[in-house]
Amino acid sequence: MRCEICGKKIIDEPITTKIDGSAMKVCKDCSKFGKIQRTPSKPAHARGPQGTARGRRIPQSRPRRRETTYELLEDYNTIIRQAREKKGWSREDLGRIINEKVSVVSRLETAHMAPDTKLARKIEKILKIDLLEKIEDTTGEEFKANSLKGSTIGDIARIKKH
Ligand SMILES: [Zn+2]
Repeated sequence: MRCEICGKKIIDEPITTKIDGSAMKVCKDCSKFGKIQRTPSKPAHARGPQGTARGRRIPQSRPRRRETTYELLEDYNTIIRQAREKKGWSREDLGRIINEKVSVVSRLETAHMAPDTKLARKIEKILKIDLLEKIEDTTGEEFKANSLKGSTIGDIARIKKH
């Protein structure tokens, strides 16, 4: 029995290896050039569909994994009320303009209801105010940096106490 790659005489058992899709009986040295065949086709077959699923591309509307979220400002109710009063509008007026019931405006101004992003945007435009804070969720490095800064300040404070 000779190795099908290097032609060396195989003293021990030949190793069946798969090179470029064809099984070859080779020596130990040459077996590293291919995939060693043990339980043929089964593991490769099982890997098949899974691999296809992983490889399938899901259409994404957003370019990267960076996600932008909008957070409603804590004092949105005061901002809305003050901006409305500045314009000399009543709650009814604002309600008519944003196409919402007066009760909605009332609840917004008393912080009993938080507007969703769509409604907040509408109010922002009409009253020329900012209700939403843009939060860009990157890798969390910013958060890490901030917490580091925080610990430094804490350390200084602790040192001063002594
Ligand atoms: Zn060989």
